[in-house]
Amino acid sequence: MQAARVRATVAPVSGGISAAGGFLVRFWGVRGSIAAPGPATARYGGNTSSIEVRCGDRLLLLDGGTGMRYLGNALLAEAPLDADLFLTHTHFDHVCGLPFFKPFFQPENRFRLWAGHLGSGLTLHRVLREFMMAPLFPVPPDVFKATIEYRDFKSGATLRLPGAHGVTVRTAPLNHPDGATGYRIEYAGKSVCYITDTEHVPGKPDRKVLGLMEGADIAIYDCMYTDEEFAKSYVGWGHSTWQEAVRLCKAAHVKKLVVFHHDPDHDDDRMDAIGREVAAAMPGAVVAREGMALTP
Ligand SMILES: [Zn+2]
Ligand SMILES: [Zn+2]
Repeated sequence: MQAARVRATVAPVSGGISAAGGFLVRFWGVRGSIAAPGPATARYGGNTSSIEVRCGDRLLLLDGGTGMRYLGNALLAEAPLDADLFLTHTHFDHVCGLPFFKPFFQPENRFRLWAGHLGSGLTLHRVLREFMMAPLFPVPPDVFKATIEYRDFKSGATLRLPGAHGVTVRTAPLNHPDGATGYRIEYAGKSVCYITDTEHVPGKPDRKVLGLMEGADIAIYDCMYTDEEFAKSYVGWGHSTWQEAVRLCKAAHVKKLVVFHHDPDHDDDRMDAIGREVAAAMPGAVVAREGMALTP
């Protein structure tokens, strides 16, 4: 793959954006496990996973954490929308923004919701109905007015998006409690990987992750912990480290690493320090923050 030119810009988190026919990734929620708002996390952001991807005129959404509410507000003016939402999995921090995504209440919109981690007879529609159910939640997903199609698949499949010629979405299973799916979006000769939530086994690089990442221009990866924190307290919790991300990205010839799914207890100063260490270990690596936009 040819040498990549990767630009990072920090843009205001308001208003719709245009990829001007290109490939663009914008971060609306970067936090793991639970939203962590407050003055100590204001610079990187406290919202949980939500990413907007533009491939020309196609809109792809990654995960439905609390950041998705802000993304939805910015998208209102773009109705009618026809978009695909890819869920890594259905743990709360990745779906709790869905009921507050206003474009789901605009009847002129159409969304396809994709999930590949569910087995044993479960479907995404059923899981969302059980999550949006009394007494946990006041209204069921039937209140959405947009046309919503639920697309269950098996992690590892390559997905075909209706009418999206030129966009390929490859997937791989991740190592996470209840399962999760990693994604690789390919468009215009470039590629972006979204790999969260996943736990590594020290000394044994995950071959499926390496296969998905190979040669990618950008890899967004679960860097919830440091190697030290992981070894001391978090084996079996389903997450990885920024040091493992660097090892994987180097082995898979990834051009740019984006540190993602920040520990809610890692405040801005801590993220600054991690950012310095990551950039020293892998030049060009960046820590995801709300409002950051990248062009592969
Ligand atoms: Zn998570
Ligand atoms: Zn999870």
